[in-house]
Amino acid sequence: MKKKILVLGGGPCGLSAAWELSKYGYDVTVIEKEAKVGGLCITNEYKGYRFDLGGHRFISKNKELVENVCRIMGDELLTSHRKSVILLKGKTFDYPLSARDIFLKMDLWTNVKAFTSYLIAVFTKIVFRKKDMSFEDWIVNRFGLTLYNLFFGPYTEKLWGISPKLISSDWASQRISLLNLKDVLFRLLKLKKGTPRTYAKGYFYPKKGIGQMFDIMSEEITRMGGKIVLNAEVSGINVNNNVVESVCYVQRGVTRSIDCDTIISTIPLSGLVKAFPGRLTENVINHASVLKFRAVRFLNILVDQSDISDNTWMYVSEGKYIMTRIQEPRRRSPFSAPEGKTSVMLEIPCNENDETWSCPEETLLKRCLADLKELGIDIQDKVTGYFTTSVTHGYPVYSLDYSMHRQKLFDFLACYENLITCGRQGTFRYIFMDTAMEMGIAAAQTLMLDNLCKKEDVQSMRSEKELLETSSITA
Ligand SMILES: Cc1cc2nc3c(=O)[nH]c(=O)nc-3n(C[C@H](O)[C@H](O)[C@H](O)COP(=O)(O)OP(=O)(O)OC[C@H]3O[C@@H](n4cnc5c(N)ncnc54)[C@H](O)[C@@H]3O)c2cc1C
Repeated sequence: MKKKILVLGGGPCGLSAAWELSKYGYDVTVIEKEAKVGGLCITNEYKGYRFDLGGHRFISKNKELVENVCRIMGDELLTSHRKSVILLKGKTFDYPLSARDIFLKMDLWTNVKAFTSYLIAVFTKIVFRKKDMSFEDWIVNRFGLTLYNLFFGPYTEKLWGISPKLISSDWASQRISLLNLKDVLFRLLKLKKGTPRTYAKGYFYPKKGIGQMFDIMSEEITRMGGKIVLNAEVSGINVNNNVVESVCYVQRGVTRSIDCDTIISTIPLSGLVKAFPGRLTENVINHASVLKFRAVRFLNILVDQSDISDNTWMYVSEGKYIMTRIQEPRRRSPFSAPEGKTSVMLEIPCNENDETWSCPEETLLKRCLADLKELGIDIQDKVTGYFTTSVTHGYPVYSLDYSMHRQKLFDFLACYENLITCGRQGTFRYIFMDTAMEMGIAAAQTLMLDNLCKKEDVQSMRSEKELLETSSITA
């Protein structure tokens, strides 16, 4: 008899695990808390407009994954190109930052300060062998204090809601492309030739929003015999010795239980641990409560004009503006808005239940339209509708000691041999959709080979400190 496998969470990771397992005829059931699958990769439709939860795009290094996605999507998958910029002090800078662009657009005094502080940073790093503990250290040690204060510090503080001194350097090493001042200097001195490192610009995007990818995947899962239970929130894990035997979930107010041989969990790590009530020590509860997520509110605005700009998204660095990014969904797919119209989506980071999270939609709209106007985007008279969406688990907050707390939770779960936790929430890692999908597939494969001792390999996939976008397969 085939094993009965439960997948907790129907986002990209959980669905990919179920997709792989159902291909091989396993008895697989996905338990998803929301009314539809997709997790952070859902697309919401409203009056003929489509909005993701934050702008998403699909890029991957994994040829097989890309081929499989292309196969199930067929003609529904577009190949798009991004153009993105940084808005700062009334000017528009290239993204990723380029030394040349900064040099041309900043005044002489700022350039002198930036270059001097860069030289000081290089000197101190070499002479004093300064270590990177925090995000701030990582940036200042590489770019100098002036560029940090202009581009990185205020943006990072707005995104995470805490001082960059309290954010682990891990986040920077995975996310920031080097502004290659050294490279530029070497080229000027003719000491280096060749093409500078660039970001991949091409990416895949479904016609009807990123959520379409996971709608199609879930149809394929059910066609192959897999089951997807929606509106079902996991509330308890039942164990016998060190074996998980069943899972409880609440569906429309009724608690139900479902037996299993193995579990692939993609729900938030702390939530999973807390679902083992009888076994928790105070210590474990403390570690779980330290791992926090940053929430995001999205303001989706319907605009009665054909275009806002040719940028896919614009970063807003300064702390005085409420949003971190301005997205124009039409730039990803023309099917994101009706013919001749466009839309704007603003990403507004916050904490669950804080002032921004609870702000009435109308008040938030007013504030955002005023911010947009100051930034040179005056759409006040063109708004034909708006609504907000939100996520509680937008970004895992990499506090300075997050990895120690996370490891304690992995240690707690290690004795349950028939359970693996993976995905963005399940490993508390800032990973992209393609890595989440790869993790789900790898978890399914290790399980099929009865090799759950390989859990760590799955959980640490793609943790190399390199920017994914530099060498990925795109359109
Ligand atoms: C603003 C923003 C922009 C992004 N842009 C990109 C991008 O351009 N490209 C890219 O590749 N990635 C992007 N990402 C990251 C991408 O969204 C994630 O990597 C991906 O969604 C992770 O998939 P996952 O399945 O691991 O987690 P999730 O998508 O979070 O899915 C977890 C699922 O578990 C469910 N769940 C939680 N608790 C329970 C419970 N108790 N019971 C049952 N179900 C539960 C949730 O409802 C959810 O469906 C972005 C993320 C954000 C926030």
